[in-house]
Amino acid sequence: MTDTPQLGFDTKQIHAGANPDPATGARQVPIYQTTAYVFRDAEHAAALFNLQEVGYIYSRLTNPTVSALAERICALEGGAGAVCCSSGHAAQIMALFPLMGPGKNIVASTRLYGGTITQFSQTIKRFGWSAKFVDFDDLDAVKAAIDDDTRAIFGEAIANPGGYIMDVRAIADISDAAGIPLIIDNTTATPYLCRPIEHGATLVVHSTTKYLTGNGTVTGGCVVDSGKFDWTASDKFPSLSAPEPAYHGLNFAEALGPMAFTFHSIAVGLRDLGMTMNPQGAHYTLMGIETLSLRMDRHVENAVAVAKWLEADPRVDYVTYAGLESSPYFGRVKDVCPKGAGALFTFAVKGGYDSCVKLVDSLEIFSHVANLGDTRSLIIHSASTTHRQLSPEQQEAAGAGPNVVRLSIGIETVADLIADLDQALAKATA
Ligand SMILES: *Cc1c(COP(=O)(O)O)cnc(C)c1O
Repeated sequence: MTDTPQLGFDTKQIHAGANPDPATGARQVPIYQTTAYVFRDAEHAAALFNLQEVGYIYSRLTNPTVSALAERICALEGGAGAVCCSSGHAAQIMALFPLMGPGKNIVASTRLYGGTITQFSQTIKRFGWSAKFVDFDDLDAVKAAIDDDTRAIFGEAIANPGGYIMDVRAIADISDAAGIPLIIDNTTATPYLCRPIEHGATLVVHSTTKYLTGNGTVTGGCVVDSGKFDWTASDKFPSLSAPEPAYHGLNFAEALGPMAFTFHSIAVGLRDLGMTMNPQGAHYTLMGIETLSLRMDRHVENAVAVAKWLEADPRVDYVTYAGLESSPYFGRVKDVCPKGAGALFTFAVKGGYDSCVKLVDSLEIFSHVANLGDTRSLIIHSASTTHRQLSPEQQEAAGAGPNVVRLSIGIETVADLIADLDQALAKATA
């Protein structure tokens, strides 16, 4: 089934991108465990390589199982095209690759997944790219950070490690005025809670490792393009708006219109960077995505209950969940993520670093892991793990100071989660 905009989210999460297999009638999307695809004849092969005909050549570029997943995520986000890749971090590089060049920069939120802060502040420098980190609540600072070499703005709709909701529309207005794309990492919200393209985002990136797969089985990523950005409006994006030397001089914007970004990502990005998702991985994520809305409703319901319980507990200093009325971001929830503020948040334990470590070690149902968005409840002490490579100032700015732990609330029986936290807090603060 190709995208049918009038269908409901719950229908799309099961059917989008999936047709009965033309050869066998198989109802589920088969795992096309193949590297290559037989050309009908030499003319067909040439047409595929010229992008005159769409079809399968080699699984580093496209594979039917992976394409079904890309189409499904694209439909759920309301995009024009999407490309899957090997991880969320791969998706971030894939999103930036057609836009950037040596000497170019991005303006990024200070409130990001710790691994993304490291990728942007250190590793992308090897490509001659750089990032300027700005508080996205300070709109003047965001505007001031944009210069002639800025090629994108990057933020998370619901930021990891939690509690922050980005005013996507306000930042989109700034990127529109500057003529540069807005990239939103929608991993922690998922398209069920937040649809960034409707708030003006150009590109949406995902770590499908998290809620989209939902059960902690595979790593993967996806870039969705809204198809709405005019790459030809300036000379800032020559890979898309001018003859691309890496693809025999094809002008992607001219030849492919709203699919320019997606085709460039496949024909040049996946071809040369090789960050490909494998069909087994796509299969697991397709299975997970079928129940996304059901899981997200329960994740949110449980998160609200646990956050309220923690907030009322004297052993807890504060809770950062944006779904609590006490949160400064509570007012943004109804606009940005009307079905809820997600299931990821932090809380500060009285007793600081030592109590946090003891708490983490005392929990029995919560698992201490560097992951989120699993059916099971997870906990991590960010300052000693995911945000360890950051300076104390960066940790504070990211909401990952030494006295806080991050919870990813699962879909278990909520009373059991609260009881587990209760007994572990008793040990941690004894
Ligand atoms: C996990 C995560 C990533 C990175 O994704 P991987 O699949 O682990 O590479 C990026 N952004 C956010 C918000 C994440 O939670």
